[in-house]
Amino acid sequence: MSATELSCRELVELASDYVERRLPLAERTRFEMHLCYCAPCRVYLDQIRATIATAGRLTEDDLPAGSRETLLAAFREWKKTP
Ligand SMILES: [Zn+2]
Repeated sequence: MSATELSCRELVELASDYVERRLPLAERTRFEMHLCYCAPCRVYLDQIRATIATAGRLTEDDLPAGSRETLLAAFREWKKTP
């Protein structure tokens, strides 16, 4: 993997920091570049934002049940498609 490209798994790991604006600028840029071409990650980010809008904050427990696992499984399926 190149130094500038974020994987979907990394994006999922960084998502809450991104939404709460804790990422340094370089990481934010990589994150946003990934969102430009990765629709599943945009969906995931929307889920996190909706969760924060509802709960006012974000913890692992607040994430929709199983959403992370479902998403990562979806990524695996998606990558199989040529
Ligand atoms: Zn992605």
